[in-house]
Amino acid sequence: MAPIENKNWLSDFILIQSRKSGVIYSAEKGGRRMQLFDLHCDTLYRAYTEKSTLFNDSFHVSFRQTQGIAPYIQCLAVWIPDEYRGTAAAELFEGCVRKLEEQLKDSGIRRCVTADDLRQTMESGGKGIVLTVEGGAVLAGDSANISRLKQAGVRMMTLTWNGRNELGDGAGVEQAGGLTDFGRKTITALEENGVIADVSHASERLFYDTAEIARLPFVASHSNAKAVCPHRRNLTDEQFEIIRQRGGIVGLNFCRDFLHKQSTNAKMYDIIRNAEHFLSLGGEKTVAIGGDFDGADIPADMDGLTSMPSLYEMFLHHNYSEALVRDIFFNNAFDFFCRYERLCRQESYQRKKENV
Ligand SMILES: [Zn+2]
Repeated sequence: MAPIENKNWLSDFILIQSRKSGVIYSAEKGGRRMQLFDLHCDTLYRAYTEKSTLFNDSFHVSFRQTQGIAPYIQCLAVWIPDEYRGTAAAELFEGCVRKLEEQLKDSGIRRCVTADDLRQTMESGGKGIVLTVEGGAVLAGDSANISRLKQAGVRMMTLTWNGRNELGDGAGVEQAGGLTDFGRKTITALEENGVIADVSHASERLFYDTAEIARLPFVASHSNAKAVCPHRRNLTDEQFEIIRQRGGIVGLNFCRDFLHKQSTNAKMYDIIRNAEHFLSLGGEKTVAIGGDFDGADIPADMDGLTSMPSLYEMFLHHNYSEALVRDIFFNNAFDFFCRYERLCRQESYQRKKENV
């Protein structure tokens, strides 16, 4: 173990604070490392559609540039744009899955499907990915296709993108409705198959329909606070409160448009402003990271994954306790995924009992 003074990116101020908090750091290569569990990025989609890789340094996320972050668990979303429906949506998903398999080969990156996979990644301080889907259109209107998602290792699905699909309406639909009959059945089928329902991009009505049907906690993987930035993609205080009370989580989104009313003025600090608001609503165990890397324009003072240690440091500089910052950047998401797996087992037992 190198001495703690042998720092890399940490300022003296933080080192003093850190000693006070008594947190023990991993001192590999002469400095502490931060932990990161990011609930949303579009890097896999980009790697597939741009015939590139997960190791492209011109993307926001490159798995070659993870210095200072360990463990690092990244949810990789297969984005289904609104013009993809039916077999086109299913084929896009299959193409991304093939790309992922090819990329993970001999990469040392663990594919995390179960809570055990997540735990092993955490304990080894390694890199892991969780496959997710952004857009229920991937099901092509047939809930039997959820078993294909499960087989491919998908752990979370955003119900809609901005438009309308077979499940219901997204946040971009005028006079939007909520869940369709198929959408309602899908919520139950997702829970039965251990796939977390994600309400980022949902219309307000679809959000409330989901809250009514869901028996398990659900998440908003990449949405900010409407009270801070009144964008249709952000959550009202009431929505945040429902997710919080139900034991779900909310990932802070780095998209400029969702961070600041005047998006060109958005800065990294606006992530803290959104976090601050959620924390004022009692969100210490609810707020997580859902950066939207490679799917959004991020603030000019950020580069991508390589900016995460600076963001972590910025939280500490604003007098957030080390324990709270670790919860936001890693533990809240990690604990949620592990808890969801347990709840699924209990719920499937309960459903079986009710059907006897
Ligand atoms: Zn999105």
